[in-house]
Amino acid sequence: MKFTPGTEIVELADGMYARLHENLTNAGIIIGDEGVMIIDSLRMPSFARDLKDDVKLITDKPIKYVLDTHAHWDHSWGNEEFPDATIIGHKNCYLEMTDPDWNSEWRSKIMSSNDPWSSEANLVNITPPNLTFDTSMSIYIGGRELEILHLGKAHTSGDIFIHVPSEKLVFTGDVIQKERVPYLGDSYPHDWLDTDDRVSELPINRFVSGHGDIGNHDDLMEARAFIHNLVGETINTIQDGKGKEEAQNQVIESMTSRFSNWVGFDTMDEKFGDVYTKLTAS
Ligand SMILES: [Zn+2]
Repeated sequence: MKFTPGTEIVELADGMYARLHENLTNAGIIIGDEGVMIIDSLRMPSFARDLKDDVKLITDKPIKYVLDTHAHWDHSWGNEEFPDATIIGHKNCYLEMTDPDWNSEWRSKIMSSNDPWSSEANLVNITPPNLTFDTSMSIYIGGRELEILHLGKAHTSGDIFIHVPSEKLVFTGDVIQKERVPYLGDSYPHDWLDTDDRVSELPINRFVSGHGDIGNHDDLMEARAFIHNLVGETINTIQDGKGKEEAQNQVIESMTSRFSNWVGFDTMDEKFGDVYTKLTAS
């Protein structure tokens, strides 16, 4: 079968797949008796069309549900390609995706980035979820329960986890990633600590995240440790009255031996400012 170049379709369980896209955004594909659920519609309509083509190679059933793990453009700006599907997201994901300032900031950032999808960003009809929830909901697909959970703010205000108890598996969006530094610019550092504590209690042994490789429970605990180290150390430096530059040097140095091999750690100095500013303000 000829899937989109750069993607790898991994069968997680019967009728359940991770579609990993090298250096870009991953998706999930779950096939039920009558229809399909996809997790994340990807960054642009053209990427969503590629995903739909890949789904067609696996099944001829229609895509009935789209889940937005969070509001970030690279996960949700393909939503418009699914006009017949129910698009599910957290209510805060809806609020972020209908916030004109959020949308215009992201659109201009992407359009000026000179990426292959920059010009397409101008044409995207940003389409928020049409079914939202507050704390949790369950959907039964192909005889399996999918528990859709909001465990608190973290990477954004509306992150959700898709927990599949029968497979000891969870889709984590960008909150938990295997050996990758997540984007911190829209994050809620304080809340992220508690959210990570809650997700670490799920009885799972595998996770699929929005970027990078599939992880196991140890990888999940390392992702939790990353946030606890980063936020905990930053709070310490603020309490000691340290300015941003001194704090940055101290925090990054304290994390280097454990996390320097992570994707994106080399630009921690650029990412640190967001965390320091948010924690100083709170
Ligand atoms: Zn994200």
